[in-house]
Amino acid sequence: MHPAKRGSGAGGHNVRVIPAPALPLVDRHTHLEGALDPAWVRREAERRGLALPGPLEALWGGGAVPFEGFIEAFLFGASLLDSRAAVRQAALAVARRTLAAGGSGVDLWVSPHFLVVHKAQLSLADFWQGLDEGLSEARALGLQSCVVVDAVNHFGPKHGHAVLDLVLPELPAFVKGFSTGGLEGCPFRDWAPVFERARAAGLRLAAHAGENGPGSNVREAVLEAGVERIVHGIRADDDTLALLADRGIPVDVCPRSNAGLAADVRPHPLPRMLRAGVRCALGTDDPGVLPCDLATERETARALGLDEAEMTRLLRHGAEDAWCLA
Ligand SMILES: [Zn+2]
Repeated sequence: MHPAKRGSGAGGHNVRVIPAPALPLVDRHTHLEGALDPAWVRREAERRGLALPGPLEALWGGGAVPFEGFIEAFLFGASLLDSRAAVRQAALAVARRTLAAGGSGVDLWVSPHFLVVHKAQLSLADFWQGLDEGLSEARALGLQSCVVVDAVNHFGPKHGHAVLDLVLPELPAFVKGFSTGGLEGCPFRDWAPVFERARAAGLRLAAHAGENGPGSNVREAVLEAGVERIVHGIRADDDTLALLADRGIPVDVCPRSNAGLAADVRPHPLPRMLRAGVRCALGTDDPGVLPCDLATERETARALGLDEAEMTRLLRHGAEDAWCLA
């Protein structure tokens, strides 16, 4: 089915309008595996007798590394999530960072298939239980959250179905969405059946698109795979921005991550996207690897030339389109 023809398809959700004084600050996109507390990673590495990867220390110090270095740094942290207790700590790291920056909500991307099947480093039950414990404690501290299950685009749709095979039979209530991430190496039209299956299971649909792949991926994700929310989208051309604006498709923009992983996209298009009417909001992506938080992301956005009204729009979109507050 052509997703654009569905009556309540992409972008057809009802926007909740929240009065400006009550706007909660929401981290609209962060990865559990990329949001670990550096101090915890250091302690765990020491306890296990592991050397920290050079790229991770370089990134923590504010340095730049090649993409492969980022992956090495990210994977090192992910390798430490091999128990219920470690996953709980990871969720608490997200909570503490978000709350310390004044945030009160987070849409949290997780990669259970990577940890449970690909790396086989803990059971699915332990993963969900650790996450549930951490997010429950976070809620007691004042943080709303929901979880989006991430699949790897370049592993292809067969992998996408394997991710759904893994999580759908006993899906925790806090899982609200399904997404693709990784390298944008597989056309979104090939992913359409996977997204359709996730939608039929009651999940919202998102995709990393127009980050490490061409801007045309953003259009294809929306028109050919029925994706209702875009992560990054920074390579989208003006026609695609108009499409996103027309359909009210939310876009999660992560300036710190983009500066590290899509450094060729200059100047950062956030002002252009907002001024095209796109419902952009801010996320931290991998703040445990590329250090940032919601406060620094807002400072960065302001430094791109946004005025007060535009900063308020960012905040407003961040709350109104957040799945954790829906
Ligand atoms: Zn991401």
